[in-house]
Amino acid sequence: MHTVLLFWIFIAETLFHGYTQHPYIPQPKEIKEVPILCFHHIRPDQPIQQLSPYSVTESAFKADMKILHDSGYHTILPDQLYDYLTKGTPLPPKPVMITFDDNDAEQFTIARPVLQQYGFKAVFFIMTVTIGKPHYMSKTQIKQLADEGNQIGVHTWDHHMVTKYTAADWVKQVDEPRKMLEQIIGKPIPYFAYPYGVWNQQALVELKKRGFKLAFQLSEKIDPHEPLLTVRRMIVAPSYSPQTLLKIMRRDFH
Ligand SMILES: [Zn+2]
Repeated sequence: MHTVLLFWIFIAETLFHGYTQHPYIPQPKEIKEVPILCFHHIRPDQPIQQLSPYSVTESAFKADMKILHDSGYHTILPDQLYDYLTKGTPLPPKPVMITFDDNDAEQFTIARPVLQQYGFKAVFFIMTVTIGKPHYMSKTQIKQLADEGNQIGVHTWDHHMVTKYTAADWVKQVDEPRKMLEQIIGKPIPYFAYPYGVWNQQALVELKKRGFKLAFQLSEKIDPHEPLLTVRRMIVAPSYSPQTLLKIMRRDFH
């Protein structure tokens, strides 16, 4: 049996122990790691050699969404993932989560219509220092994304790594941005994405203290004690064809 599957069985057993108040107790073997994609910039079509590793072209993004749709994938949101991991609430067939980091305007102008075309919902992790600046989303756009059923998440004030925070930094980088975003969308936000995907044990303690339900990293190992605060994502690289994307999703998430 694959080691990652064994690992998730361990996580599931840990999580479900004591959840007898729920009428449905899932079998640990049913728990699978949901593929989670991470996008940053979506650039106008151009040779991929000119793109940063955090960019995809508009055509590539459209092709990625099309293949997900045509292959029968359903987008899920963090509330659903949390309920699945903690209570075994079933997910739709072939679940995938689509996430965007940093608050780029292209996520609204280019990605949003494509997502809507396929009935997809996504998660937008906002770096709040950028709100309303040129090439970034405005408060109104962020509110609109939330009103349309997407999830807004916290991604710090100005993208400093959480591993270097003082007590004052936690307020400035996490508490205040969270409050600001909650005021913009009018809902609580219990979801966080680590800048650069980087975290440490102290960060897990701080996020837990603040009641975050899920925190998203990139592709480091999941913490065995805090799997919900070290959820893995994969960056979609500019060189991936849609078929490569599917292959990597199936290879890296079990
Ligand atoms: Zn970021």
